[in-house]
Amino acid sequence: MGLEEKLPSGFLLTTVEGVAGYARKNSMWTVTFGLACCAIEMMSTGGANYDMGRFGMEVFRPSPRQADLMIVAGRVSQKMAPILRQVYDQMPNPKWVISMGACASSGGMFNNYAIVQGVDHIVPVDIYLPGCPPRPEQLLDAILKLHTKVQDTKFGSNRAAEVAELEREALLATPTSEMKGLLR
Ligand code: SF4
Repeated sequence: MGLEEKLPSGFLLTTVEGVAGYARKNSMWTVTFGLACCAIEMMSTGGANYDMGRFGMEVFRPSPRQADLMIVAGRVSQKMAPILRQVYDQMPNPKWVISMGACASSGGMFNNYAIVQGVDHIVPVDIYLPGCPPRPEQLLDAILKLHTKVQDTKFGSNRAAEVAELEREALLATPTSEMKGLLR
């Protein structure tokens, strides 16, 4: 049974944003960027058991110029931070970042001068993935959530309106220094 037998006859209407989002989310390539123990789980995700190949993503690119997704897997040292930023800058737009694990997202247990306390100090992050380390299933879930985000990306004036709305919400949000939680 071929695809043509599943398609409706007649014509199909969609938006440019919809087509571009569909193409982008199904053609993501990941730059090789493992930093610590989380990277082992990231590598497992590319293996036969978890099979990132289902999404056409099993080949990690050795060149940032061929990649549009950076998975920051592991703690980021102060020494590595400028290199991470350089690799990010060399990736073509549009590009996305998943912060994998507690260390990449917040410094984790390494609350000291040698480790960056969250990779969002260095690059913009699209998805924060909790865990120490996160399981491959969790990474796959984060990738699928990113796919949804990419699919819903707006263009042109729609994008400008969306960014303005997000900035307005961010300015109204409670500063983290005033947040109360179990650890405060
Ligand atoms: S979150 Fe845990 S597994 Fe990941 S880099 Fe940090 S210590 Fe290692």
